[in-house]
Amino acid sequence: MNKLFIAFALLLFNCNSSAQKPKSAASSNFKINKTEAQWQAQLSDMEFIVLRQAGTERAFSSPLNKNYAEGVYVCKACETPLFKSEHKYDSGSGWPSFDREIKGNVAFSTDKDLGYTRTEEHCATCGGHLGHVFNDGPKKTTGKRHCINGVALTFIPKE
Ligand SMILES: [Zn+2]
Repeated sequence: MNKLFIAFALLLFNCNSSAQKPKSAASSNFKINKTEAQWQAQLSDMEFIVLRQAGTERAFSSPLNKNYAEGVYVCKACETPLFKSEHKYDSGSGWPSFDREIKGNVAFSTDKDLGYTRTEEHCATCGGHLGHVFNDGPKKTTGKRHCINGVALTFIPKE
């Protein structure tokens, strides 16, 4: 009887684990799909940690934090335009901050990595993690603070 129970339990366990979806299944919705090995070959270590593993760069480490030149910020991984210089502001956080994204080019999800719910944002084309959105942005405009890792962006100055 005991043996039967164990066999049954093992069977359940096996079915359960094989039914689990691979974590990468979610990324198949994006227009640009590469394997993690391909991304790793294309990106620097820090770019890979932020864009592909949802890491966070050190505050005040990005040269783009204090960049106020006119231009557009594109995805470091796939060059999709994500943010415009006219929507950038100094939040004092140490990360490049914008009051809005280029609509349609940035997608959102929620995460609880720090124990509370945050709105995560990522490139809508390749799925690369960019940062988070908070509701303590400039009240005069959108009230939103898009807190973005500079390492996830390439700045293209206006010609
Ligand atoms: Zn991208």
